[in-house]
Amino acid sequence: MRCEIISVGTELLMGQIINTNAQDIAQELFSLGIGVYYQTVVGDNAPRLSDVFTQALKRADLVILTGGLGPTDDDLTRETVAAVLGLPLKENSYWVQKLREIFARFKRPMAQMNLRQAMVPQGGKILPNERGTAPGIYLEDGGKVIVLLPGPPRELLPILKEQVIPLLREKLQEQKEIALLRSKVLRIAGLGESDMAEKIKPLLEKQDNPTIAPLAKRAEVHLRLTARGGSEEEVESLLTSKAEEIKDVLGEYIYGEDEDVLELAVARLLWEKGKTIALAESCSGGLLSHRLTNISGSSRYLLAGLVTYSNEAKINILGVKQAVIEDKGAVSAEVAEAMAKGVRRLCHADIGVSITGVAGPGGGSSQKPVGLTYIALEAENLSSCRRYEFWGSRQDIKERAAQTALLLLRLHLMGKLKK
Ligand code: ATP
Ligand code: MG
Repeated sequence: MRCEIISVGTELLMGQIINTNAQDIAQELFSLGIGVYYQTVVGDNAPRLSDVFTQALKRADLVILTGGLGPTDDDLTRETVAAVLGLPLKENSYWVQKLREIFARFKRPMAQMNLRQAMVPQGGKILPNERGTAPGIYLEDGGKVIVLLPGPPRELLPILKEQVIPLLREKLQEQKEIALLRSKVLRIAGLGESDMAEKIKPLLEKQDNPTIAPLAKRAEVHLRLTARGGSEEEVESLLTSKAEEIKDVLGEYIYGEDEDVLELAVARLLWEKGKTIALAESCSGGLLSHRLTNISGSSRYLLAGLVTYSNEAKINILGVKQAVIEDKGAVSAEVAEAMAKGVRRLCHADIGVSITGVAGPGGGSSQKPVGLTYIALEAENLSSCRRYEFWGSRQDIKERAAQTALLLLRLHLMGKLKK
């Protein structure tokens, strides 16, 4: 079954609201194994909606329209769909009754206009709306399935999940087309997208079911595996065996799956090894502490996260030598190392980690460009400090710095961090 989603609304075209409906619908359909081939957005304009809908009927088996089911003159989805299909609109007595009840409950007179919301193209079925006056409509015509849904997400979502999806599932079973699509995400850090693609080139080249899609994120790469099959067991085993093949090649570069985040991988290792850490952050402003404290139970390993932003804080709190700052600058390997040593000593931690850098956009120079960052890690028998030149906005640089620090921590905890 091929689907097209048509979102109706001039607000959408003008960029005043985000088309979350299309996203939600596409996600729900995906879980049924229905492919969305097109998504179109069209304004509140009958001739253009008519064009788009006519086009959609030619290339899709299922057309889902959202928005424009309200009672006012600019709401024309219902009428336009009926006109294109050549179906008369019939008043649905059940919904007329519902409208009367709704208006009575709010002690408001019902305008004649509101009755439009009880009109259904002949042969169509009402999808009751518990949160508004416009019901959804389900219609089969000329071998096509057409669904109309109200625009407001709080009205649309329950109708979609509780009514449309079950109807479509039945339809698929009727057509014996039931196919499941399931995805698994492998999360990779410490390896760039192209290096990763190079390593798994043979797998990428002969991919079919599951498909393998690399996605570059900030300082990490995701591989999305998507399998298609007739049953949960079948898709699950396709995904698992492909994931194993990839793990054989990428090994420890894979730090987690699906919703796992890098800080969780680090937290698990800290728990396992029974190690504590303390952080001294400058340019990252506490982002590393924030990420590590996002994991519940973080008090078992995180002793303190200090944001030592000024030179004075680095000197007075961490014990960095004033002369070193004057001589080398606050953004330097020497200062990063002294920060990591200082915070480790101060907090009696097993591991001290520090970040100091130029987050920009101002404050860069030719020797110390924006993005220049040092990350140091100090542990019982290891002192490591690395230099990076991150790029992007201030936010990007802060996030890359925190992400990279987590990466170094993970390597260290796996016993793989060299000086
Ligand atoms: P109403 O009865 O409120 O007029 P309607 O079915 O006619 O509902 P629209 O008038 O198109 O729907 O949209 C109503 C509101 O729903 C919009 O102002 C917007 O807040 C929200 N909305 C509409 N379409 C979308 C969409 N595609 N994504 C997210 N929100 C949407
Ligand atoms: Mg409206």
